[in-house]
Amino acid sequence: MNKNAEIAVRLQALKDAYLARLPDDLAQLNVLSVQLQDAASQEQALVQLNQRLHKLAGSAGSFGLAELGKLAKQLELQTQQWSEAGQLDTGKLRLFAVAINSLEGLVDPGRPLSAPMAHRSIQAKSPNLIYVLEDDPVLAEEICVTLGHFGHEVRHFNNLARAEQAILAQPPDFMICDIMFDEEGREAPAAIARLQQQLSLPVPVIFMSTREDFQAYLDAVRAGAVGYFVKPLDIIRLVDCFEYYLDRNRSSPYRVLIVDDDVVLSEHYKLVLNAAGIRAEVLHTPERIFDMLQEFHPELVLLDLNMPGCTGPELAQVIRLNSDWLKIPITYLSSELDVDKRILAMGRAGDDFLTKPLTDRELVSAVSVRAARCRQLSDALDRDSLTGLLKHSRIKELVDLELSRAQRSGEPLSLVMLDLDHFKHINDSYGHSAGDKVIRAMAHLLRQRLRKTDSLGRYGGEEFLIVLPRCGPDEAFKLVDKVRRHFQEIPFQHQGCHFRVTTSAGIASCGASGAMAADTLLQAADEALYEAKHQGRDRVCIYQKQP
Ligand code: GH3
Ligand code: MG
Ligand code: MG
Repeated sequence: MNKNAEIAVRLQALKDAYLARLPDDLAQLNVLSVQLQDAASQEQALVQLNQRLHKLAGSAGSFGLAELGKLAKQLELQTQQWSEAGQLDTGKLRLFAVAINSLEGLVDPGRPLSAPMAHRSIQAKSPNLIYVLEDDPVLAEEICVTLGHFGHEVRHFNNLARAEQAILAQPPDFMICDIMFDEEGREAPAAIARLQQQLSLPVPVIFMSTREDFQAYLDAVRAGAVGYFVKPLDIIRLVDCFEYYLDRNRSSPYRVLIVDDDVVLSEHYKLVLNAAGIRAEVLHTPERIFDMLQEFHPELVLLDLNMPGCTGPELAQVIRLNSDWLKIPITYLSSELDVDKRILAMGRAGDDFLTKPLTDRELVSAVSVRAARCRQLSDALDRDSLTGLLKHSRIKELVDLELSRAQRSGEPLSLVMLDLDHFKHINDSYGHSAGDKVIRAMAHLLRQRLRKTDSLGRYGGEEFLIVLPRCGPDEAFKLVDKVRRHFQEIPFQHQGCHFRVTTSAGIASCGASGAMAADTLLQAADEALYEAKHQGRDRVCIYQKQP
């Protein structure tokens, strides 16, 4: 069974469980509405009715019972009015009982739930097929070779018509396209814009041109441009733009924590989010919140407003009292419509509100937008602006974290310290901005070559630190040496001068044997790097002494 079908089956099972539970819930509401008419049990019944109707109003819509949810909401508001007034209106009481009785008639299991829309999966397709549409053979060769060095599969077309056929037959993940095809006298943006309409998903394009006028930019945008480069082409900047775009699309899934006492509804939300490529965890018992934050590191917390034992706003305040979690946005998820109550909740803690019932699409879009914003902000704080890699302090924190993880699991861990050779000479000969380009190119290459679980930081100016969990020294050596060999083949140029750059690296690993401080391991990697430099640079050394 494929993943979507599997999720559809699980969603249906949740809906079945909800429907199975519903008759009891509705019968209970009927009992309570009878108790409401008896002065002795009235007060207690009113409180319970209010809570149960509130829950029903919030959940029924998500299981395809919108009408039931709407009526439950109206009845909930009625109980609320009575509570606030401190007395019941006997005339309305009878109507209320009839309405409660009629809830049952609104339970229509309807059609089976369909699988929620699956987003373009991050793993489904290799993100590396690139088409280069360029009729200048020299430039085309240069682009293809450079992209090839960064590990992409590149196909070149010097003819627009042939490219069109290929794009329709096998749409690439990315296109790099010259605007003008001289021989055919055709302008590519119009042709690409037409093609995009025939594709199920638009292909991102970077255009290259000698034109710098507004109309050229506008045509490019209409053809799906994510980048625009004026010739003469700076290829490393083009790779930059391209990698930045791919990186955004292959980054790890968002992590969302749902705190709700309604087990079935929260499991439903979880499945819907999973189907859209978002990782979600559910917490039913607020007391475990700290463990959960620590283990799961959510980028967004969805918090039910009304929970027994600890309300949403109380839990939000608990979270905010701990400065470690200040960055995480908290969104209340509730069927509460009373503006005063909402304002009160937000005044205590929490950032915004989503109103239940939510359709699956609304849930996915609301969650994605909020989690993306959170990631953007934390990236801005943790990442270096030149390379997009983790800053010194953050990568050091990760060394601590991964080292203790490795020691707990008994798996090996390797650290790599990597430094560009004679970099002062590059800066002196070609200027600081050429130097910057080289640093960025190394960052791209590393990102391209490492696994998702590896961490990568800019440790100093032209020095990088790589953390490789579950990786011993030999495997680390193979990986880093490959990076070294590829990097020295990348052609750089500055004002007509061509040059290449070599790299040295040091590796230190810790095996299953015993505890070791992060600083000791870092120092060992640094010593191995020094050894590589000492032996003549352009090589990788493994720390040999037992650190
Ligand atoms: P070695 O092979 O021994 O590593 O020689 P090196 O010249 O690379 O060594 P060193 O570490 O002494 O020089 C690094 C230079 O990198 C010095 C500094 O000006 C330059 N640098 C540091 N950060 C940046 C940066 O962000 N951009 C540029 N362009 N240069 C930088
Ligand atoms: Mg150096
Ligand atoms: Mg250095």
